[in-house]
Formats: sequence, structure tokens, C-alpha cells
Amino acid sequence: MRIIICGAGIGGLTLAHALRGQADVVLLEQDAHAAATAGYRISINHEACGALGRILPTALVEELRSVSDTEQAFRQFTVADQRLRPIAVAPEAEGTDRILAQRQVLRVLLARDLHHLVRFGATVRTVAEDGNGAAVTVADGSVIEGDLVVGADGAGSAVVASLPGQPPARDLGLTGIAGWSPLGSRFGSPGAPTYLGAGPALAFGPDGTGVFLSLYGPPSRPVSSAHTATVPSGPALIWGTIARSDRLADTRNAPPEVFIQQALGLLGRWSPWLEQHVAASDPALTEAFRFRAADPSGPLAGWTPGRVTALGDAVHAMPPTGGRGASTAICDAADLAAALRRHLGGRPLSAELAAYQRTIVPRARSAIRESLGPVRIINTLRHRPLQLLARPLLGAAGALGARRYGQRQWQV
Ligand SMILES: Cc1cc2nc3c(=O)[nH]c(=O)nc-3n(C[C@H](O)[C@H](O)[C@H](O)COP(=O)(O)OP(=O)(O)OC[C@H]3O[C@@H](n4cnc5c(N)ncnc54)[C@H](O)[C@@H]3O)c2cc1C
Repeated sequence: MRIIICGAGIGGLTLAHALRGQADVVLLEQDAHAAATAGYRISINHEACGALGRILPTALVEELRSVSDTEQAFRQFTVADQRLRPIAVAPEAEGTDRILAQRQVLRVLLARDLHHLVRFGATVRTVAEDGNGAAVTVADGSVIEGDLVVGADGAGSAVVASLPGQPPARDLGLTGIAGWSPLGSRFGSPGAPTYLGAGPALAFGPDGTGVFLSLYGPPSRPVSSAHTATVPSGPALIWGTIARSDRLADTRNAPPEVFIQQALGLLGRWSPWLEQHVAASDPALTEAFRFRAADPSGPLAGWTPGRVTALGDAVHAMPPTGGRGASTAICDAADLAAALRRHLGGRPLSAELAAYQRTIVPRARSAIRESLGPVRIINTLRHRPLQLLARPLLGAAGALGARRYGQRQWQV
């Protein structure tokens, strides 16, 4: 069986690993090489860690863990106020597995043993299917035929555009700016909120600005130079602002220095510690991106099973505010591989693809809903009267939280 996977991102590469040796797999990827991807960090949740453990060679999983932060760096999640005082702390359940991987490193590792299957620099334009197979037309005019085409080409998928009944993800009107700032030492940065030593945090300002914060420690094991192009060499603060796109100037084609200035423009009344660190960020590691999401109550993966299917953000894009997108794509890939293995064992393809589509929908809906929670708070605070109300409320919650969680938890 020849399977053409469009998109060698997190989900597409996971699927290719899962199908190795069982099908003739071709991966088409628009990027020039595996390291040519945004440099933010992604958290892989318990379920997705389990899927990777079953799919990838053990040595590869061990290598990924050795160059990533693990559950020790994610023992809790904190919601904080503008002064970075904790408002609420949600501990992780005991025994929860987690990998906090730098996205570029994760992609380079996933692609390393698949180089003979991936065609980099191949942008998919259109997909057409007939009863017996499907054909992909690439930007250079070449046409590649297969028995099944999988759209793993992320939000705005060219493949999913060919599937009837799957509405495109909508722009949420929010823009994220994310960067890395060096820290003197991982947990000893003077003035750092100490709760960051136990896990990431999301802070809200009364004007509806959100800021994601997480600490990064360099891996215990040295990574090869191919992995380190966009990874800080020492401890770092990973930060990401979230704000309504209409509060920011158009950042298309802007140099990264402009992103840092725009982020600072949002943080005027925030903790001076945060402002200093954002100002000291490495422009080469700073990026801006718009938030998109599928409608969690609308039709998802409802197309008639045929010779084209899809996974991950291509089907159910979600903003990064829940940290669920990559994990959901990995789990989709594992489920699709299982369905295709059953087909290769003799079961009808359309029945297995239909079962796959049914499996991914509840997980996707819950992940999108969770990811939209912080977006709702930010959107609610777009109204001036609510901002005026939010200021004292968030202030009181921060003061209460600081007392409740103790001085050690919030020094800034
Ligand atoms: C700042 C930020 C932080 C995030 N943090 C987390 C997190 O902590 N945890 C988490 O689970 N998720 C996180 N995510 C989301 C996560 O990165 C995505 O949800 C995940 O990568 C989706 O996987 P995917 O395989 O569906 O798509 P992708 O990994 O985006 O892969 C799609 C691939 O398709 C390629 N492509 C697109 N169009 C074409 C085309 N026409 N032809 C050929 N190739 C094409 C792209 O170049 C890309 O390589 C974050 C996202 C952002 C922006």
C-alpha cells in the first residue's frame, strides 16, 4: 500500500514511524529541511508520551528524553496576575509522564531516520481522488500517486480543503509573540517567581494581555550541533505574550526586534523582572504567530471515508494556550496507523478510516475547548468596563494567592 503523507510536522513524522516496514510511505514537506521550523518549546502529554513510546525505537525515545525537560519541570501549572503573584496553582497528578521538547529538536530527531522517505521543498497544491487511489500535485508540477493521501499539513491544510464538510479553522483575532531570554541560573535568577521552578505559568493583565512563562534548563546530555541552532546554550526564560491582533502593528515581514518591542509595549504595567527579561531576549529566537482554531461544536472529521484522510492541526487546529496541539496530532497518528494496520490485515479500508475518524473527534473537541479557555478570558477583557472591574479583582486575587501560596512562591 502506498501512503502519501502531506506534511512532515509532528503528526506526519509520527505516522511515518508507525507505518515503517508495513507500507510504502512518501512524505511531502514544504520546508527545506527538518530544522527549518519555529523554535518554541512544546509539551507532550501523558497519552502522547505513551504513543511515542509504542511507536518510536526505544533508543530514539531515550534520546528525546535526554535532550528535553521531563515531568520534573512540570509538577504544577500556575495562573498568576500582572505582578506575577500566583492566583491559582494546579498540581499535576502523581505519575503523569511528560516531555517538554524544543520543537526544532523534536522534529530533527523524528525526521533523522526517515530522510529516505521525506521530500523536502515539496509544497502540496491540490489533491484529487478516485475510487482506487489519490494523486497529489506539488508546486513544481509533479504528480505523485498513491493508495491513500494523509493531510498532516497543519492549520490551513491544502489536503483538507479537498475534503467536503470540513470547515477551515478560523482566525481568533489574537497574536502570540514568543521568545527566550537568558537566565543567570536555572532556578536562581534574582527576582524570578519561584513557582516557575515547579512548572509553567499563565499570567493575565486586566487589559486582556496574557503572558505564558516557563523555565528552560539546557539538557543534561550534549546535543549535536544539528539540534542546537535555535536552542539557548544556558538556562533561559521562555515567554509568550498573547494579545488581540488589533493592538499590534502588522508584523508580517517585520524583523524579530520589532516583535520584542511590540511585546514590551504590552508589558508596561507588568512586573519589572518580566519586562527586563523580555527586553534582553535573543531576537533570533523571537517569533510572532496568529491563533487559529476549529469550532469545537462544529463538524470535525465528518467527511465520507475515501482515499484522502487527515490528522492533527489540519483537522482540528487549536491555539497553543492549552499546550495540546502536538499531543493531539501524535495521538491521531497512532490511531490512524492502528486503523491502517487493521486494513493491511484484511479489514476494509473505508470501515477502518471511519472508525479512525470517530476515535479522534472527542479528543479533539475536548482539546480545542480546553485551549480556548484562556482565549475567552482575553476576549472578555477587551471591553473597557470589564477591564475596570478586572483590575481590582485580579489585584485582590493576586494578594490572596500570594498569602495562600506563601512568600517563596511569588517573590518578584
Ligand atoms: C508557540 C506555540 C507553542 C505550542 N506549544 C504546544 C505545546 O506545548 N504542546 C502541544 O501539544 N502543542 C503545542 N503547540 C501546537 C503544536 O505545535 C501543533 O499543534 C502541532 O505541531 C500540530 O502538529 P501537526 O503535525 O498537525 O502540524 P505541524 O507540526 O504544524 O506540521 C504541519 C507540517 O506541514 C507542512 N505543510 C504545511 N502546508 C504544506 C503544504 N501545502 N505542502 C507541504 N507541506 C506543508 C508544514 O511545513 C509543517 O511541517 C504550540 C504551537 C505554537 C505556535
